[in-house]
Amino acid sequence: MNNGTNIKRIALFGSTGSIGTQALEVIEANPDKFSAEILTAQNSDDLLIQQALKFNPNIVVIGDEKKYEKVKEALSNTSIKVFAGEKALEEVAAMDCYDLMLAAIVGFAGLKPTLRALENKKTIALANKETLVVAGDIVMQKAVENRVPVIPVDSEHSAIFQCLVGESRNRIDKVILTASGGPFLGKKPNFLVNVKREHALQHPNWNMGAKISIDSSTLMNKGLEMIEARWLFNLKPEQVQVIIHPQSIVHSLVQFEDGSIKAQLGLPDMKLPIQYAMGFPLRFVNNYPRFEFKKYATLTFEEPDVRTFRNLALAQDALYKGGNLPCVMNAANEIAVYAFLRNRVGFLEMTDLIEKTMEKVPFIEKPSLEEYFESDGEARNFVADIIKL
Ligand code: NAD
Ligand code: MG
Repeated sequence: MNNGTNIKRIALFGSTGSIGTQALEVIEANPDKFSAEILTAQNSDDLLIQQALKFNPNIVVIGDEKKYEKVKEALSNTSIKVFAGEKALEEVAAMDCYDLMLAAIVGFAGLKPTLRALENKKTIALANKETLVVAGDIVMQKAVENRVPVIPVDSEHSAIFQCLVGESRNRIDKVILTASGGPFLGKKPNFLVNVKREHALQHPNWNMGAKISIDSSTLMNKGLEMIEARWLFNLKPEQVQVIIHPQSIVHSLVQFEDGSIKAQLGLPDMKLPIQYAMGFPLRFVNNYPRFEFKKYATLTFEEPDVRTFRNLALAQDALYKGGNLPCVMNAANEIAVYAFLRNRVGFLEMTDLIEKTMEKVPFIEKPSLEEYFESDGEARNFVADIIKL
């Protein structure tokens, strides 16, 4: 580390979220290995203040500028620096006081700070999959140019990453992402048409933020993850497959050229991939519950039902066609999920909105970063107009 100790200084972008709070648990359990140097949140001022008082970071950023005074006041007896606003997130990402960024902001909003961290040659532990869905080519190119590792936090990608340790000279045939299937596994459109937000938020195996919980219930999450995998591991679209595995024990698999398959297993607990990404290349002891075979007599696998869960088919289309299509799809999905969470559109309508937007926004084969931003804006406006948001 650069600070003369063995402590890795973590910049936690999105510290108040599901991933952020679990990352703080990992830091708390390992004070000899990690410190929380930067904490950021969009709206949750009370939790951010509480976290700052407990972890004593160098810097906190509150996205919502209206909350700046309150946060500043609450931390006035400390040496913690307080900033506010979207621009501050980027400026702080460009600072030198940390070693690793845990990118745990949700959605497109995570893209700019992550790009700044890469330019700043900081290692990225990436939870924010939307960053790679929107502009994976540019993000990974920046990582290569700056010789910065991007270590996945997403459990499936962490599994693949772990399977690939020691295999750098061997060709990957394909990766197989496992999907729990979400709360509506096996259901058909006549059921899904009536599904409400409370039901869709109940994930059987994972306790996550609202947006990713809805994405899991529509299988869009797995679609985003296919695109995320393509960029993280430099794969062709046809090398990324999905299999439903309702128990969420096998976190994903890699098949090599010789047909041999490696998998990574464990209980569904995000603290494990978070700890692995922050500690890489080291593993270390923890007291999380362990997998026991006697509690899981059978592990099952089945093909996804892409005719019912059409978001997965749309994402596959975006994966194959590339260009700005994944970015457009992501933007439409973010607005559709936002509207669904506010009971403004139905469950199946989300897919219709995404499909229409993908047809409407002009295709760009090799977009610049500016063109990605424009495509994102165009897609958001298009959906917002349709549903009069
Ligand atoms: P969350 O909604 O619980 O938390 C999001 C965090 O981002 C919060 O700290 C929030 O303050 C901040 N934030 C939200 N909007 C923002 C904005 N516009 N600008 C700046 N900050 C903003 O989300 P989460 O479930 O922790 O997920 C975070 C990311 O990790 C997502 O991209 C998700 O897909 C990914 N991920 C999550 C899980 C999980 O188990 N929760 C698993 C795998 C991947
Ligand atoms: Mg995942």
